[in-house]
Amino acid sequence: MSQTLQLSHQFLNLNTRHPFVIARGGSSGWKTVWVKVRDNDGVEGWGEAAPNRFYGETAESVVVALEVLRPLIEELDPFDLEGAEQAMEKALRYNASARSAVSAALHDLVAKRLGVPLYRLLGLNPAASPRSSYTIGIADDDTLRQRVEEAADYPILKVKLGTDRDRDILHIIRKAAPNKVLRVDANAAWTPRQAVRMAEILHDYDVEFLEQPLQAHDIEGLRFVRERSPLPIIADESCLTSKDVARLVGVVDGVNLKLAKCGGLREAVRIVTTARSHGMLVMAGCMIESSLGIGAVAHMAPLLDFADLDGAALLANDPFTGVSIAEGRISVSDAPGIGVTPN
Ligand code: MG
Repeated sequence: MSQTLQLSHQFLNLNTRHPFVIARGGSSGWKTVWVKVRDNDGVEGWGEAAPNRFYGETAESVVVALEVLRPLIEELDPFDLEGAEQAMEKALRYNASARSAVSAALHDLVAKRLGVPLYRLLGLNPAASPRSSYTIGIADDDTLRQRVEEAADYPILKVKLGTDRDRDILHIIRKAAPNKVLRVDANAAWTPRQAVRMAEILHDYDVEFLEQPLQAHDIEGLRFVRERSPLPIIADESCLTSKDVARLVGVVDGVNLKLAKCGGLREAVRIVTTARSHGMLVMAGCMIESSLGIGAVAHMAPLLDFADLDGAALLANDPFTGVSIAEGRISVSDAPGIGVTPN
């Protein structure tokens, strides 16, 4: 009997412990999709789609995407991970979060069949992972101080800016955490001139790098900022896939990849190699997602310079366990596959 894969899904309703607010707004309630593929022997691989409205996705559009992909997925050879991602991308240009969840589920399935943790399938040593940052979202002054206190165990903080009181926020956080590594993410909120001014200030506050100061399409603006900035500029919203890395060579110092943006683990590794071949820095981030989604990218963390994998650490109700970023240290399970189990 030839192999056929069964595809199923389940919504996950996630709540962050606090409202998670960035320059574009925020929320406490988040909905992701748990994607499962099952082979003829009953072995199941799991992935998580973390859709983002900024990229035109919702949990409901993920389910529509899965239905479009279903006939293709059912016929896939799960071990042909490269072919699977290519076929999905050809069938569906958009909804990268749905495709990335299937890719993660296939990687999980294959690693389970081989009896190895995903990092071994990827040829990586988890001890080489950088520490993850922990995000301080936009909030009022007292709340910011409280959040920094709650993050006492994390040595690296990522500060969300893009408000009319950015200097105050920065001042409060630096005062509350004088010795921590700080990174700043403006989430596309600034103009080029504003970004150049802010880069000087960030430098004075000993900020390590600045992520996505400008609107996603403003490539020449990013070049303008980078040429004048005393600290490295990392592209996030401007970099979805490895093709975007090519456009960003000489424009920024590095890129922030996310599975939900790029469409799968193979493409994520391609982003790393494309960026590396041009001497660029590589970071991986996440959406608000459970330990299942974080787990998939945590296994490839040894490839990164910077990790921002706090999506599940911010949750009040993580439905999975098996991966953690306690004290910023990324730790994955040695169980076969992604290695997470339902709580
Ligand atoms: Mg970002």
